[in-house]
Amino acid sequence: MKQENKLLLGKEVSSNLTQELSSTISDLKKAGIIPKLAAILIGENPASQIYVNSKAKFFARNGCDSETFKFESNASQSDVLAFIDRLNKDDSIHGILVQLPLPKHFDDEKVLNAIYTTKDVDGFHPYNVGRLFSGDPDFIPCTPHGIIKILDYYNIETSGKDCVIIGRSNIVGKPMFALLAQKFERGNSTVTMCHSRTKNLDFYTRNADIVVSAIGVPGFLKKDMIKEGAIIIDVGINRVDDSSSKKGYKIVGDVDLNSMIDKISYATPVPGGVGPMTIAMLLYNTVMSAKSQID
Ligand code: NAP
Repeated sequence: MKQENKLLLGKEVSSNLTQELSSTISDLKKAGIIPKLAAILIGENPASQIYVNSKAKFFARNGCDSETFKFESNASQSDVLAFIDRLNKDDSIHGILVQLPLPKHFDDEKVLNAIYTTKDVDGFHPYNVGRLFSGDPDFIPCTPHGIIKILDYYNIETSGKDCVIIGRSNIVGKPMFALLAQKFERGNSTVTMCHSRTKNLDFYTRNADIVVSAIGVPGFLKKDMIKEGAIIIDVGINRVDDSSSKKGYKIVGDVDLNSMIDKISYATPVPGGVGPMTIAMLLYNTVMSAKSQID
């Protein structure tokens, strides 16, 4: 197989998904509803600023609204909680997102738990986490959901496969585990979760049909750690120095894809793989939230 045919292109899946969503968005408009996301940004983290801006542009491009509410880094938690409560009660807002990480004096859990479960488009509220794990999900966290959409689009069988997830974060690793292990069409896998305390991690990855890496370590997964024909999903977004680039850095994943391209069946590249799906699924969740208003 040609190397380019082995790439699972999230960009392509994302544009297919937004095309599919466009008829729902225009039906909502006819009913007087424009799906709207409220993003809360606390402090001056430049990466968070970039993420929030790109979300706003993506929503606008797809005929939806978004508004960013900024707080100083020394804002009080009670002010932010009171503001979330206002957004919860505002019918024109269908999704609320609090951009992480929060300044140190905030209790992340308390802030995320303040969002109404019906507007929790990131899917981080314990209620939505519980629903996902019990097999009856409502809002699914965007990155793992986006990965399932990629597998679906490329018709990659997961049933009966051995999957290894590296990383156990609440936003990627754990919900990815819940999705791949569930009795869903793109689930039914036997899933092993690895993390920084896993002994002989490559024993697990070498036996896996599908490896999902979400750890944030550039080039961690290498050719000798996977089996012939494996499918590799690279979630990592890592900035590494690159003197040949104008910016002085480049973005790479957790996977040393060049070294293993002849050995794998399929892989998501970085950039252009999982990344574009995260934002697409945020739009999807916000549109579904708006739709539930008229359903
Ligand atoms: P995180 O909260 O930073 O946690 C990292 C996880 O990786 C932890 O479970 C940690 O284990 C594990 N880990 C770290 N080093 C390891 C090693 N050497 N061997 C085995 N496990 C190791 O993770 P995250 O927020 O999920 O982010 C992971 C990566 O995905 C980052 O590069 C992030 O930028 C990227 N990301 C991308 C997207 C996207 O849209 N593409 C979205 C979210 C995140 P312990 O639990 O034992 O500490």
